Amino acid sequence: MPETRYVFVTGGVASSLGKGIISASLAKLLQARGYKVTIQKLDPYLNVDPGTLNPYEHGECYVTEDGAETDLDLGHYERFLNVPTSQANNVTTGRIYQNVINKERKGDYLGKTVQIIPHITDEIKRNIKLLGSKHKYDFVITEIGGTVGDIESLPYVEAVRQLKWELGNHAAVVHLTLVPYLNASGELKTKPTQHSVKQLLENGIQPDVLVLRTEHELSQDIRRKVALFCNVDSKAVIQSIDVKTIYEVPVKMQEEGLDEIVLKKVDLPIDEKPALKDWKGFLNKLHSAKETVKIGLVGKYVELADAYKSIIEALHHAGTYNDRKVKIELIHSEELTDKNIADKLKGLNGVLVAPGFGHRGIEGKLTAVKYVRENNIPFLGICLGMQCAVIEYARNVLNLKEANSREMNERTSDAVIDLMEDQKNVTDMGGTMRLGAYDCNLKKGTKSFDAYGKPDVKERHRHRYEFNNEYIDAYAKAGMQAAGCNPETGLVEIMEIPAHKWFVGVQFHPEYSSTVLKPHPIFMAFIKAAINE
Ligand code: GLN
Repeated sequence: MPETRYVFVTGGVASSLGKGIISASLAKLLQARGYKVTIQKLDPYLNVDPGTLNPYEHGECYVTEDGAETDLDLGHYERFLNVPTSQANNVTTGRIYQNVINKERKGDYLGKTVQIIPHITDEIKRNIKLLGSKHKYDFVITEIGGTVGDIESLPYVEAVRQLKWELGNHAAVVHLTLVPYLNASGELKTKPTQHSVKQLLENGIQPDVLVLRTEHELSQDIRRKVALFCNVDSKAVIQSIDVKTIYEVPVKMQEEGLDEIVLKKVDLPIDEKPALKDWKGFLNKLHSAKETVKIGLVGKYVELADAYKSIIEALHHAGTYNDRKVKIELIHSEELTDKNIADKLKGLNGVLVAPGFGHRGIEGKLTAVKYVRENNIPFLGICLGMQCAVIEYARNVLNLKEANSREMNERTSDAVIDLMEDQKNVTDMGGTMRLGAYDCNLKKGTKSFDAYGKPDVKERHRHRYEFNNEYIDAYAKAGMQAAGCNPETGLVEIMEIPAHKWFVGVQFHPEYSSTVLKPHPIFMAFIKAAINE
């Protein structure tokens, strides 16, 4: 077992270049060579975690098994590597400062002036090294959020500089930049990359590998030029050209030799190139699927597809394994009315109602649920989507016209969805929901049981409200039943309508645990039902 190697991934020139995908791809290639690999994201903002951020600000909040609310890049890490991440895989500036200030109050630095350097940088370094020492990974790939040159990123860049010095040939820095193409002159421009590397050098870091995002092939000449100006080997100038799907990136990075350059840099042998058989098998299936299945995704953040990242990816995984291309139609819940619903959902093979918080868009979600229920269209409701299914059934089938979730109307006469008992005294908003993986027992003969093919499952959660068990018999009598419950508390995890073709609402988030090589059973069954629609 080799000593832990540390790879740092920084970004320059522009944000949103896909550091997460490059990190995940490199990790995949190293994992395919038999190494134990993990990826960590350091986020330079002051929120302790992204749980309190609006999805418009930051995209989806991804939840790990251990209940951490994290950056959506962790979703990519899990989807690529097929191994769970944890709180240790996502650290923000807020958390770093919180730890340091807590230590200061405890007296850990007694007598000393607490400063950004060395105390904040030491705390950053401790969090990076923790994954290697505690969890015994061969590789820890640390992605530094933001762009080099940002004031906020400085302590992280300084921590990387120090670690690189300390770790010597057990550390490598991969810097991701953009090579823009100027249409008017028909030229690819490397100057922004040169400037961004200069910026890194000013901060004391010589990158070992440069990954250049580009829309056009980079010639050998361009690579040589970048190598010359940036003091790297020309083999270490790697092109990352736009591809149709992010899942092609590991294959492209292998062709470019990214893993081999990193292995050489950190003094590990370069054995045979892994075949990536399963991965390429998935890609083949993805590309060869001819028929399409059309899924409507009803939510209130549809202007920003990143808000539903894991759901969208989970749909594509399940579609691929069902030999279908998935066409996802993002439908704004605020635009749905009784009048236009038939038109808005026309031609869809299945409808998914998304998770969410608060009242906005709720009536449109209820309208969508009613329509698919009455028209026998396959339906998957996730978290708030499941709660909407429960409310709609109460209003239109149980005839409880005022039925609602306590979240939407505190004074409702029929709170079919109510605040969980242990949430009643919660005042802090950060990290206080029911979070992470909990057991769920499935009832035999239900669609969910058939989907999983086993009685006991564990799924991830992120909610404060739950199905109100006082109504469970009324629902059962009226044709909607609990198909899964938490064995300890009896909390309803799944509601189904047995008479419907496929109508499943889940309180948990199956999308978080769907991976490229392991599509999620609930999504698989939903797509299957949609195909046979
Ligand atoms: N707002 C709902 C709750 O807190 C649903 C949450 C969700 O969809 N993630 O219970």
